[in-house]
Amino acid sequence: MATVPNDHIIRILDSAIRVAPLQVEDNWRLQQVEAALSLVHLSGEKVVKIGEVFRSEVEKGIHEQPSSLQMENTYIPELPDGTEEGLFLALDLGGTNFRMILLELEHGKLIREEVKHYHIGEDMRIGCGEKLFDYLAECVSDFVKEQNLTGTTLPLGFTFSFPMIQKALDIGILVTWTKSFNCPSVVGRDAVQMLREAIHRRGDTHVEVVAVLNDTTGTLVQGAVLDSRTAIGLILGTGSNACYLERADKVQHWEVQRHGEKQVIIDIEWGAFGDNGVLDFVKTDYDRQVDQNSLIKNSFTFEKYISGKYMGEIVRVILQKLVKDGVVFNGKASEKLLTSGAFTTSFVSLIEQDTVDGVGNNTKDILDKLGLTSDEDDIEIVKYICEVVSNRAALLVSVCLAVLLKRMDRADVTIAVDGSLFKHHPRLKTWMNKYIKLLAPGKKFRLLLAEDGSGKGAGLVAAIALKLQKRFQET
Ligand code: ADP
Ligand code: MG
Repeated sequence: MATVPNDHIIRILDSAIRVAPLQVEDNWRLQQVEAALSLVHLSGEKVVKIGEVFRSEVEKGIHEQPSSLQMENTYIPELPDGTEEGLFLALDLGGTNFRMILLELEHGKLIREEVKHYHIGEDMRIGCGEKLFDYLAECVSDFVKEQNLTGTTLPLGFTFSFPMIQKALDIGILVTWTKSFNCPSVVGRDAVQMLREAIHRRGDTHVEVVAVLNDTTGTLVQGAVLDSRTAIGLILGTGSNACYLERADKVQHWEVQRHGEKQVIIDIEWGAFGDNGVLDFVKTDYDRQVDQNSLIKNSFTFEKYISGKYMGEIVRVILQKLVKDGVVFNGKASEKLLTSGAFTTSFVSLIEQDTVDGVGNNTKDILDKLGLTSDEDDIEIVKYICEVVSNRAALLVSVCLAVLLKRMDRADVTIAVDGSLFKHHPRLKTWMNKYIKLLAPGKKFRLLLAEDGSGKGAGLVAAIALKLQKRFQET
């Protein structure tokens, strides 16, 4: 395929990414808003540059050169092929809920699913590691007993959605806790081994931990059951990450013996893209402020531009600045508007819905709820900010996905996506389809919602792990 020159793409992008102009009565306010948002708007040139930077970081990461992308080998060399049979357990830790799941597969299809949620108290989440893993093992045991399976050998896939270094399909060294967890003694240790030991200490079940994965990998694998063309997994929820199928011969980091694998899933860990400064040309004062208000500063640069945990917060800090300059709400903030985290990304979705529908009271209702007195122009300005911030996120995600599509050299790729932001934002998907098409011209792809990768995907990865174990034993 002939490559399309960059300047041509830039020209097309510049007209395609333009959002509808802001309509307000007061010209001074219009100018102030435009000035405040001028750097949040991405130009076609910047978008293309972000793609080039991402491509270079991917390349460096895969060759084990310094890069903000971890490009972690997951050691999953194949996807479900329809031969998966039997009972599998999944333990899902690190998402919004902690769950145990039992999956029954027949010809690779899910025919039964049992789920139980468990509560992890704060004393467990920030206490001693052994205590946490003993509790996880207690939940495994409770669940297996409830399912009357204590005598049955059950393979378990462990979804551990924290940054880890994988040394094999069943070895995952915790790099750092995130979210609400902090058991310092676990950092630097293998989470699989700790879970195994805790299960053996109890000795009351026959559960074998065969694989460790994260939600992103699980989403790709779960997507592959829904659509065999799936080769990219994407999370757009609280956080953001992506993984893809890479040619095995391109992957240098491989700690266990190779068995002639042709491909392997690489977990990009793209939330950290730009942590080394390569994306600083995108960063605005608002992004700097969001970072300063965040739990772990100077990290997860890319995630802070695009994910559910931060998109509402970006809108909030922009509004804060406009209040300060007397442009919105008569120059009066409310206590809530000044509170970090009070403007959620679900508000952004609701406000975007007003824009999509052309009518609707969501925006007004939200501003009322936040204790803000608004006029017609304020409402239009808030809608416009939500649009510009959402649109930037769509562009950033799309340009990276386009780079992956170009890199993968496959005729047709399905991108499996999970996460509430993707599911509920009224037009993220539409924008992504449009931008990816422009940025990866001629590449055939589709975005497919593949829910619950961290549950179903874990069961499927356990099934793949078992198949591999058997095959390697035979050879
Ligand atoms: P997790 O990422 O924890 O596994 P989800 O995929 O359900 O869970 O994502 C939850 C996150 O999605 C929330 O923290 C919030 O940031 C975002 N979110 C929730 N509802 C919406 C919504 N309606 N629109 C946009 N984002 C949302
Ligand atoms: Mg999730």
